[in-house]
Amino acid sequence: MKRRSFVKLGLATGALSMVNPLKGTELLEHSFESKASGPIVLSTWIHGLEANRAAWDVLIHGGKALDAVEQGVKVTEADITNRSVGIGGRPDRDGHVTLDACIMDHEGKCGAVGFLEGIKHPISVARAVMEKTQHVMLVGDGAKKFALDYGFETSKTPLPEVKKDWKTWRRENKEVFKKPEINHENHDTIGLIAMDQFGDLSGACTTSGWAYKMHGRIGDSPIIGAGLFVDNEIGACTASGLGEAIIRIAGSHTVVELMRHGFSPLEACKEAVNRIIKKNKDLTNLQCCFLAMDKKGNIGAYSVYAGFNYALKTTDDDRMVDAPFDRNW
Ligand code: ASP
Repeated sequence: MKRRSFVKLGLATGALSMVNPLKGTELLEHSFESKASGPIVLSTWIHGLEANRAAWDVLIHGGKALDAVEQGVKVTEADITNRSVGIGGRPDRDGHVTLDACIMDHEGKCGAVGFLEGIKHPISVARAVMEKTQHVMLVGDGAKKFALDYGFETSKTPLPEVKKDWKTWRRENKEVFKKPEINHENHDTIGLIAMDQFGDLSGACTTSGWAYKMHGRIGDSPIIGAGLFVDNEIGACTASGLGEAIIRIAGSHTVVELMRHGFSPLEACKEAVNRIIKKNKDLTNLQCCFLAMDKKGNIGAYSVYAGFNYALKTTDDDRMVDAPFDRNW
């Protein structure tokens, strides 16, 4: 394994001037781009720090990116204090905690589950869908039956304190289609992408989705190409934020395709955010964030509003990075 790694602050790649119409100097002024050699783990939000360390542990012992991303996000799924991922998550408006997850490897294989209830590790069920079935995605009762048949651990949801909060919310919010607010209590998926010592990429994304969403709603997180996309020739991307807006531009796939056409990860994430801004007249509470790395180890992220950060783990780094953004709240 290569032991040496380095991180450069404020450095954009050569593609900047050649290929795309973005304002290069503006990007350079407020951007963070890192270029690390050797294994790299990136994940969304503060819970990513712990998840990255678990993923890192797999990678430094010579493990593959696929195992690393699964082990990483399992830490977040198992954290019952987390209100936006896994069994500690907040329910939909009918009181059901429904979990969404997907995983994708360096060969383009992928698996996903959606609208899954009462299973502790949806990401591992998603991996089993990928490895044991001919399908990519199972949802609802079918996903649950599959998980039980394969002996995945169950868990009773919602947790009592989460149920109490939901009852209060329910009393105060009678409108069926009330537009949910965005804050740290009602969203924050973990999307984790990693490169291993072989230079192979994989990604995982898992969430309890938007708190108090309509029953049956699935967001971007389990949708390959929206919440996550990996192309081992090019790079990987994951997303967080308003899933509906991310799905409408096939967000993570868009970012990877832009990288294929010469955009750096930062430029690609910014362009995806620009598309969301262009396509949504009302940007009230419309936070969306993308986090990407390319095959050379360049890293970038961008969000609609301020406040998105991600966890970065390399040989030299283990910290949070604030992503550049289009606007303040
Ligand atoms: N993208 C998730 C969803 O729409 C929520 C989030 O990441 O904040 O369910």
